[in-house]
Amino acid sequence: MNNIKLVSSKGHERTTIRVGEVTFGKDFVVIAGPCSVESEKQTLAVAHAVKAAGAHLLRGGVFKPRTSPYGFQGLGLKGLKILVKARQETGLPVVSEVLDTRDVSWMCEYIDVFQIGARNIQNFSLLKEVGRARKPVLLKRGMYSTFAEWLNCAEYILSEGNPDVILCERGIRTFETYTRNTLDLSAVPAVKELTHLPVIVDPAHGTGRTRLIPPMSLAAVASGADGLTVEVHGNPEAALSDGDQALTPLQFAEIMRKVFSLRAFMEGLN
Ligand code: PEP
Ligand code: MN
Repeated sequence: MNNIKLVSSKGHERTTIRVGEVTFGKDFVVIAGPCSVESEKQTLAVAHAVKAAGAHLLRGGVFKPRTSPYGFQGLGLKGLKILVKARQETGLPVVSEVLDTRDVSWMCEYIDVFQIGARNIQNFSLLKEVGRARKPVLLKRGMYSTFAEWLNCAEYILSEGNPDVILCERGIRTFETYTRNTLDLSAVPAVKELTHLPVIVDPAHGTGRTRLIPPMSLAAVASGADGLTVEVHGNPEAALSDGDQALTPLQFAEIMRKVFSLRAFMEGLN
């Protein structure tokens, strides 16, 4: 593959990234939480529920990249303070999306992992800015990114000095419209051949449909993924964003049970 140097698997050991009590690239890491931080009550309830079910990190968007400017844009700083409270109460490190280069340095005081969303994958200024930050970066695949383009985006971050990048397959646009995106699970073994970086899967944005998330979570484990990120909401029908793909805490707990028994079974195969 052309151009990639620092992210190439050639000549590099596999990257491991310690966050809280888990290590990406070694443990199977599960990130869970609401699409958007909507209120303190909603976020704390989800945080406690996902923690009880065994999640390792809490996610929650406070700057939302919405298709419509009239959609819920996120709580911003108020939302970050809610995430900090959730971390204090549960011990879960927090992951949140950054949309703007101007927000990178001050957000470091609130979050444990930056998320770069699919829509910003080739925002090269933003990639360079998180490349200069001292926090791990969860880099979603763009909805039109080839593996080469996606890996070059990771190369931007590493080339600025930040080695801690976790890749996330979250589905790509195809001619199919029944699902929100087409979850490309072949990306997991393919990209893990090309790079030493950990690769996790987002079956929520990858399918856009709650009922498809349990089977695709198990398929992600079978594909060799290093983890999962999913969306959980106490009342999905009332969610301010992505309610159609939100799991209830009960559905999430059930997935966790199956995911970790499949993972244990697969470790027995090796
Ligand atoms: C999200 O995680 O809420 C999100 C907006 O994801 P993506 O960038 O993959 O669409
Ligand atoms: Mn979402």
